[in-house]
Amino acid sequence: MPHMMQAAVVEAFGQPLTLRAFEIPTAGPGQILVKTEACGVCHTDLHAARGDWPVKPAPPFIPGHEGIGIVVEVGAGVEVVKLGDRVGVPWMYSACGHCEYCLSAWETVCPEMQFAGYTRNGGFAEYILADPDYVARIPDGLSAVEAAPIICAGVTTYKGLKETDAKPGEWVAISGVGGLGHLAVQYAIAMGLRVCAIDVDDGKLAHASALGAEVLVNARGADPIGDLKTATGGGAHGVLITAPSLAAFNQGVAMTRRHGTCVLVGLPPGEFPLPLFDVVANCITVRGSFVGTRKDMAEALAFAATGKVKADIELQPLSAINAVFDRLEHGQVPSRVVLDFGSQS
Ligand code: NAD
Ligand code: ZN
Ligand code: ZN
Repeated sequence: MPHMMQAAVVEAFGQPLTLRAFEIPTAGPGQILVKTEACGVCHTDLHAARGDWPVKPAPPFIPGHEGIGIVVEVGAGVEVVKLGDRVGVPWMYSACGHCEYCLSAWETVCPEMQFAGYTRNGGFAEYILADPDYVARIPDGLSAVEAAPIICAGVTTYKGLKETDAKPGEWVAISGVGGLGHLAVQYAIAMGLRVCAIDVDDGKLAHASALGAEVLVNARGADPIGDLKTATGGGAHGVLITAPSLAAFNQGVAMTRRHGTCVLVGLPPGEFPLPLFDVVANCITVRGSFVGTRKDMAEALAFAATGKVKADIELQPLSAINAVFDRLEHGQVPSRVVLDFGSQS
């Protein structure tokens, strides 16, 4: 095995990533080493590289939490994965396994949770060290590049849709039809929900329509809230906000039907005001949702393996990461860019 690997590194917040050689880590007891085949580029990686959030990673660090690859080394005591398995290293890199949240299958809010590409080095590298208890098991028949967006964008929106409590036949409004949103539209339809798509980009809305969204609303139109309420007969039963824009949050709450649920998933830095009278008098639930549990992950991957959900991907080499970040920041990525390590030895 070679001793060095290429990786894209955040050396300082707000600066372009540096491509440089790193020593390949070795799997210690209880760890595995994954040889990366593909890694999706999520808007969260951009927030990480800018240091947008109150809990910050410590540079230098390697972003990436949609990394998929083959297990090439297993540390002492590891039995749950084997050499040659295809796994994904998701945002939930590990959790404690013992706290009240872990015990109740809410490991996504474990206070000891570590984050891939944030508090642990992630998938913008040729090799990734991982915790075998928390890796995603990639089903046969799903290629690495197809699986990559599912292990963050897919599981997050699948879980978020479940958290809206919307029932088959009811309306969900999906705000932001980028990497997360274009998968949300497909999960929603596969779950029997009717979809309204909201974005600021008409190209993204046309894409949502092609994927089966029945109602399209441009968030910058003259009366987006009124248009959505008219089309759905009073608002969406469930709203899923994936847009990395605070404006989308006020709008999303206002688009929620009486007694409906608005699920917040997008993570622009900052706060937004809740109109108390409307939320209280209409019995609206506003709820955060963060990635998904390992069970949600297996379910989200199964939808992809059976072809009900398919990410639209654009392949790029690791060396293109700064140009990809620039386009993502300016809304110029149609759906999801996946870094393809496949052509490298
Ligand atoms: P993306 O850049 O691929 O897509 C964002 C989409 O939102 C784009 O289509 C853009 O045109 C649209 N948009 C921008 N402003 C809008 C507005 N005002 N109204 C409606 N649409 C608008 O980003 P992504 O990778 O899908 O990530 C989206 C957000 O979700 C990021 O903030 C990311 O950090 C967050 N995220 C959260 C979780 C979680 O677990 N909660 C997981 C993954 C990503
Ligand atoms: Zn992500
Ligand atoms: Zn825990």
